[in-house]
Amino acid sequence: MKSVAEQHFSRELLSWYRANKRTLPWRANRDPYRIWVSEIMLQQTRVDTVIPYYERFMDRFPTIRALAEAPEPEVLKCWEGLGYYSRARNLQAGARMVMELYGGEVPDDKTSVAGLKGVGPYTSGAIMSIAFNRPEPAVDGNVMRVLSRYFCLEEDIAKPKTRIGIEKLAVSLIPEGAAGDFNQGLMELGALVCTPKSPSCLLCPVMEHCAGRIAGKEHELPIKTKAKPPRPEHRVAAIIVGSGANAGKVLVRQRPETGLLAQMWELPHLLLSKEQSYLLAIDGAAANEQAAAGELLTKAVEAETGLLIRPRKWFMDAEHVFSHIHWTMRFYLADLGAEDYSLAAESAAAYETGGETSSEAVEQPYRWIGPKDMETLAFPNLFLRILREYWD
Ligand code: SF4
Repeated sequence: MKSVAEQHFSRELLSWYRANKRTLPWRANRDPYRIWVSEIMLQQTRVDTVIPYYERFMDRFPTIRALAEAPEPEVLKCWEGLGYYSRARNLQAGARMVMELYGGEVPDDKTSVAGLKGVGPYTSGAIMSIAFNRPEPAVDGNVMRVLSRYFCLEEDIAKPKTRIGIEKLAVSLIPEGAAGDFNQGLMELGALVCTPKSPSCLLCPVMEHCAGRIAGKEHELPIKTKAKPPRPEHRVAAIIVGSGANAGKVLVRQRPETGLLAQMWELPHLLLSKEQSYLLAIDGAAANEQAAAGELLTKAVEAETGLLIRPRKWFMDAEHVFSHIHWTMRFYLADLGAEDYSLAAESAAAYETGGETSSEAVEQPYRWIGPKDMETLAFPNLFLRILREYWD
């Protein structure tokens, strides 16, 4: 038997959602593929950011078959700028599984959907409920926040046990025959009203029975232990400028097939040791520091890639934060030391893999590129920013 608060929540949330839902491109119909793509894109990413990417992606890959058959670099290129690129690779691997195992149709079966590459409990719940209207929970951080506040739950939401408890609670609240709208209502309430820092309780459709608000704890909840901060890494990078036939071009390399930013393109760079990282604490324009870091860069690039470079001057500093690593990077403009240097030799160069230094030699393709090549090669945001700055 549901409590008054539970009944109130299910009823009011559903009718609020139906009256107030935003028009979003993935809500145009209940095609499971469209919903799947949207849910993967929306992980860790804001709705406003996702919309143009989503529209472009669906134009380019309108069906599961189109995505499954596309070359991976094209999929990455379409994802360029959204970050968390393993999402794109897993999505394509999942599409290939659907082609091979289910004849190109996302199956109306929770276990099968949950078995697709890159589909976790949240995404499978979202696909099953939104596309097939199955009473499955779709519990992400937004939903945990809303339910923790409404029911004044003081357990740590970072703990798997709490998540499981909240999933059970979420299923019990789904109104008969309205799983898709109810789950979307929960997400919508978390995104628009019961927001992390400033919940708009006075506008909230469920405020009357919200135990967190009544207890004055809406700003304290949910309880969440802090995740470990990302590991800092200090790096130096080279914008190696071409001459002769390569005038106007810069040298880029492709990352390894696995690991961080797999197969994306980047400027050559290297990880500084703890003892060397002080170099980045000094003003980049300072002459002495330029010489020290430039020398280091020259030696390291030569040792690791076989490239003979001559750093000319400091270009800029930039940062990028991944979920588990924080890069601080200093970029230098550099020339190749030997004009007739063979790129074939460079292609067999060894360098770090997956953000970790590796002693194993890895074959890496290097390429001279101009601004036009940016339209086809996929670069992580950090390098996009630097290359645009360089060519502007
Ligand atoms: S009343 Fe406030 S705290 Fe409670 S669910 Fe609504 S917005 Fe969140």
